[in-house]
Amino acid sequence: MKTLAKLKAEPGIWMRDEAKPEIGPNDVLIKIRKSSICGTDVHIYNWDDWAKATIPVGMTVGHEYVGTIEEVGSQVSHLEIGQRVSGEGHLTCGHCRNCRAGRRHLCRNTEGVGVNRTGSFAEYLCLPASNVFILPDDISDDIAAILDPFGNAAHTALSFDVVGEDVLITGAGPIGIMAAAICRHVGARHVVITDINPYRLELAKKMGIKHAVNVTESSIEEVMAELGMTEGFDVGLEMSGSEPAFNGMLGAMNHGGRIAMLGIPPGRMGIDWNEVIFKGLVIKGIYGREMFETWYKMAALIQGGLDLTPIITHHYSIDDFQQGFDIMRSGNSGKVILDWGV
Ligand code: NAD
Ligand code: ZN
Repeated sequence: MKTLAKLKAEPGIWMRDEAKPEIGPNDVLIKIRKSSICGTDVHIYNWDDWAKATIPVGMTVGHEYVGTIEEVGSQVSHLEIGQRVSGEGHLTCGHCRNCRAGRRHLCRNTEGVGVNRTGSFAEYLCLPASNVFILPDDISDDIAAILDPFGNAAHTALSFDVVGEDVLITGAGPIGIMAAAICRHVGARHVVITDINPYRLELAKKMGIKHAVNVTESSIEEVMAELGMTEGFDVGLEMSGSEPAFNGMLGAMNHGGRIAMLGIPPGRMGIDWNEVIFKGLVIKGIYGREMFETWYKMAALIQGGLDLTPIITHHYSIDDFQQGFDIMRSGNSGKVILDWGV
């Protein structure tokens, strides 16, 4: 079968032929129909320090996809061949304290599909049956292929009560924009998103986020003044991993504000801790999706009318994967879908 793999310890990703995986008794085999490129795949492509330290050379990568169940392991009773599915990319150990308490997103032994084990840029993926998410018919293939990052957005945006609150989102990447759309959908008052990339800010506007601020041109405080906000934001969602963005957020929060942090900084980050202490801020780190509460919330948000389609900006055939990675790496895209032609 065709796969995309990290074959050399240098920038790039390569197509190769590999044997179709054999599944174990508790697994399913998923025939992949569409894949989506994640920011993580771009880090792997670029071969940055994180990728060098994490990704084994020779491994097939990728973890955002939709497909159909092709084979079911002998011990799996709740899934059937032909079901349309996506899957949770974090495999958890099942025996640590958090797993046993039902908090699988906090498993200390988490392994990632396409990060620590073979990925889904492949004609077929072997996945533990417990990680499969059966798709409702009214979620399209395109949207199903981006549930993984949408889940990051949902997990972060729903971490704190945003109903009637003023929300600041730093970073208008695909995840930041989807998080902003969720906040509007569930009833936040003012939703302000920032970025430094005009393409991304335009995309946010296409997704219905009116207050998309280029922080190289105007300040968050100017927007707050325009909106008549005199005190500060109630909830912050950090979605850029950028030190100046996070510091700007700390300065714009109201006292008692709550911040959920998803963005991954490239290294240590310096902040003014006095902002945190004297404002009594609460800061929560977010990793992955809650298993599987976030998945049910995602389905419900989409079925409740949240339209994510504008965030998908490019489609390519899997054979044109290089073009897909090039556009992702340029920053001038939303989500990019690679079609397997099945
Ligand atoms: P992305 O890189 O596409 O988006 C980040 C955005 O931040 C970009 O548009 C960039 O222009 C913008 N940015 C850079 N500097 C900024 C600044 N000073 N102010 C405002 N915006 C600024 O990433 P994404 O795919 O949307 O993911 C968002 C973040 O979440 C990334 O850091 C990613 O690594 C991280 N992530 C975390 C998890 C997790 O489980 N914690 C999962 C997926 C992604
Ligand atoms: Zn565990």
